[in-house]
Amino acid sequence: MTAYGRRGNPTLNDPAVRQAFLEAVADGMHIGPASQHVGIGPDLSRRHAATDPTFAADLKQARAQGKKHRDDAKDHSEGHYRNQQCRHPACIKASNQARTNRRQRARQQPETEPGDVHPIPLPMPEPALFPLARAS
Ligand SMILES: [Zn+2]
Repeated sequence: MTAYGRRGNPTLNDPAVRQAFLEAVADGMHIGPASQHVGIGPDLSRRHAATDPTFAADLKQARAQGKKHRDDAKDHSEGHYRNQQCRHPACIKASNQARTNRRQRARQQPETEPGDVHPIPLPMPEPALFPLARAS
């Protein structure tokens, strides 16, 4: 039993369903879950947008808003910038700050002299614990 008392799923011609769908998408839901949320088929919004330019524009705006909503909810950091190639302003800022810090640290550290070497620990001669290992 639908709102219209007809058989089948609700459609996007119903203004209430359309509104609920667009709100869900603008809230950050993907098309699939938003479709499920309002009870329409997963492909209906795409087919509807193909024939209804007004709905297509509304859907495009809602999707952009939803993406922004999802992006803002993420944990932005330098690692996000480097590993996920995120270019959210917060990630760019964190990455720039981290780079500045690294360069400052590198400038503050004294240069190592060319003669400075790390002492390499020499291997100690092993005691002959396994004399049978040598077959020759
Ligand atoms: Zn990010």
